[in-house]
Amino acid sequence: MLETLRKIVQEVNAAPDLESVLDVIVRRVQRAMRTDVCSIYLIDPQRERYVLMATQGLNRKSVGQVSLSLDEGVVGMVGQRAEPINLEDAATHSAFTYLKGTGEKKFHAFLGVPIIHHRTLLGVLVVQQKLIRKFDESEEAFMVTMSAQLAGVIAHAEATGSILQISDHTKTESDRKFEGVSGCIGVAIGPAVVMTPLADLNGVPDRKIDDIKAEVAKFKSALAQVRRDIKRVGRSLAKRLRSEERELFDVYIRMLDDNALAGEIISRIKEGSWAQGALRQVIGEHVQQFSMMDDPYLRERATDIRDLGRRMLTCLQESGPSLSEIEFPENTILVADELTPAMLGEVPTEKLIGLLSVHGSGNSHAAILARSMGIPTVMGVVDLPYTRIEGLQVILDGYSGRVFVNPSLDLIQCYRDIIREENEVNAGLEGLKELPAETTDGYRMPLWVNTGLITDVARSLDRGAEGIGLYRTEIPFMIRDFFPSEQDQMETYRKQLEAFAPRPVTMRTLDIGGDKPLPYFPIEEDNPFLGWRGIRVTLDHPEIFLVQIRAMLRAAEGLNNLRIMLPMVTSVHEVDESTKLIAQAVEELREEGHVINQPLIGVMVEVPAAVYQVRRFARRVDFISVGSNDLTQYLLAVDRNNPRVASLYVPYHPAVLKALQFIVHEAHKENVSVSICGEMAADPGGAILLMAMGYDVLSMNATNLPKVKFALRGISFDRARELLNQIIVMDDVDKIHMTLRNTLKELGLGQLTRPTIPD
Ligand code: PEP
Ligand code: MG
Repeated sequence: MLETLRKIVQEVNAAPDLESVLDVIVRRVQRAMRTDVCSIYLIDPQRERYVLMATQGLNRKSVGQVSLSLDEGVVGMVGQRAEPINLEDAATHSAFTYLKGTGEKKFHAFLGVPIIHHRTLLGVLVVQQKLIRKFDESEEAFMVTMSAQLAGVIAHAEATGSILQISDHTKTESDRKFEGVSGCIGVAIGPAVVMTPLADLNGVPDRKIDDIKAEVAKFKSALAQVRRDIKRVGRSLAKRLRSEERELFDVYIRMLDDNALAGEIISRIKEGSWAQGALRQVIGEHVQQFSMMDDPYLRERATDIRDLGRRMLTCLQESGPSLSEIEFPENTILVADELTPAMLGEVPTEKLIGLLSVHGSGNSHAAILARSMGIPTVMGVVDLPYTRIEGLQVILDGYSGRVFVNPSLDLIQCYRDIIREENEVNAGLEGLKELPAETTDGYRMPLWVNTGLITDVARSLDRGAEGIGLYRTEIPFMIRDFFPSEQDQMETYRKQLEAFAPRPVTMRTLDIGGDKPLPYFPIEEDNPFLGWRGIRVTLDHPEIFLVQIRAMLRAAEGLNNLRIMLPMVTSVHEVDESTKLIAQAVEELREEGHVINQPLIGVMVEVPAAVYQVRRFARRVDFISVGSNDLTQYLLAVDRNNPRVASLYVPYHPAVLKALQFIVHEAHKENVSVSICGEMAADPGGAILLMAMGYDVLSMNATNLPKVKFALRGISFDRARELLNQIIVMDDVDKIHMTLRNTLKELGLGQLTRPTIPD
């Protein structure tokens, strides 16, 4: 059964459009279940009705014609109950409605299962039989499994269908909406530019070209290169391979023949597709055909074709313009399957107005960087057929996490109004730069910033930051091809320290791993957030740690505003080992003649184990800083990167609030100051609560700093304490959110909450 299921899903996955997807499903399921009928009813959201979209066994003429209201018939009941209904004779059921023109009179046995994607009911999958009999449990289980697996494919095919209509100009306006999560607030309207990861064939977008001759030539030269490579590899391995393995190289060369793959690709290019797109289509079709074959030897050939495709793509990408040579249009909305911090660093900032990522969530590091740059961002738009939207107009709503492709003029106007309101609010906040973050009853709250890129520095100073609470040193490591030298690092760090002196600058030691890989230091793990990350990596590589510490200390020479912070600490021996290495670096540099002051050292509290050892850490170091982004992920067991569970990632969860309060109390018992540098400090409501808990410093992205300052200046410390006391005993997150929002509104700070978004 598993094999049948695998094959059906594979075939469905390869079907080019919704109609074929549905057609394959009904044909295959009917055959696998040996029933007389298999049909799919999908909900048409505009009409709020089920429409018969495909059938094998009923009258085909009724496809697209027959429909039912959402509470009509047994099909309606399956949807309403959101569970399978298995009847030996459907016609005798009280809910049964005979669908005229379908010819279903002669069928009795009925099994319907709902098709549900991300909690949304898409339709119902039905099988029927002439016999009067109940389907058995294994048949029911098969249908449920089938439907669960196909729901995503159907949703994706629906979305792709509507996007294709737009790009073929059969539909001029669509307001086609895709849901994701907010990465950075704000609205952007502009053309989509899709960024392809290197050698990822599936990620190649469709693109039309005018100069067919040049494109064919480009393809032929890539082809020649691949042929040469394969021959070379074949020759060099000849002695070590058995003859049948050597033959494989000949097979590869034959596959590249003009009459085979290459010929097909060239004819697609001649139809106007760019070479990479033509390659993706042809390779995809062949991989599909081979993987469907019963003979295991032939099935394996799919891997070879995929490999050839990747090789050709690499050559095409190498011969194409590099990222830095791409002409980005004005108001670019950058679209990627998985947005990485490195991608952000490579696009000219003056052209970039929005970011859109199919994977990841609002807590991914790319989103955090986007916030520090103030670029509206939507993450986790999992259903977006992103390879099909190159060049199309997009509205990106970073408040609600929604994306509209090819929007109507009315909708564009609505969002332009929001952009105008937003600009007005920001202009109103500009006057705050020189004013302190002081409550109405005179409580002073230091506001620092989080930085990563050098461009953050000027923005931060411009917004009145009083220090750097977190400099993510891994960012400059990520946009290079190898580990930066001590001198390189020193120069980069010096810029941050100098720009902020005499204000304090907190430099975190390298926090790689998790979702921050270095291209030149790959870490392959099944569960990277629970793996080799942060201090664990650098303590295992003291040579990397020491070089970084030396660079930091040298950069601070004569400035003396350096604070060093250790990420992902779980036990005291990590603190002891790190402080020992820092002392060693100080000693060495002094011996070399540098004038080095002992820097302040701090520990980040990011994992539950650290929460319960805060006092022990506090006795060993100068300050504690809470990384609430990771702390939330580890306390709630919610991957900060996974869009599927993004709605469960709640920094205002009662457990997180309790932990945050506990940390401050514990650290203060040792008279050690506590800051917070997680994203929660950047939320005006969060900042009020953290101040009330007793946090000594709030560190946040520069974009939100003025809003936080405005909020703190609009409330008294007593009122903030009252609010905290009220919220800390609540056990429902929605109630906590509502209370915070209402309080901000009462205080006249309503403009800090989201603007009203049209539905
Ligand atoms: C955090 O975890 O809250 C933090 C500030 O570190 P990062 O987001 O870089 O993991
Ligand atoms: Mg962290």
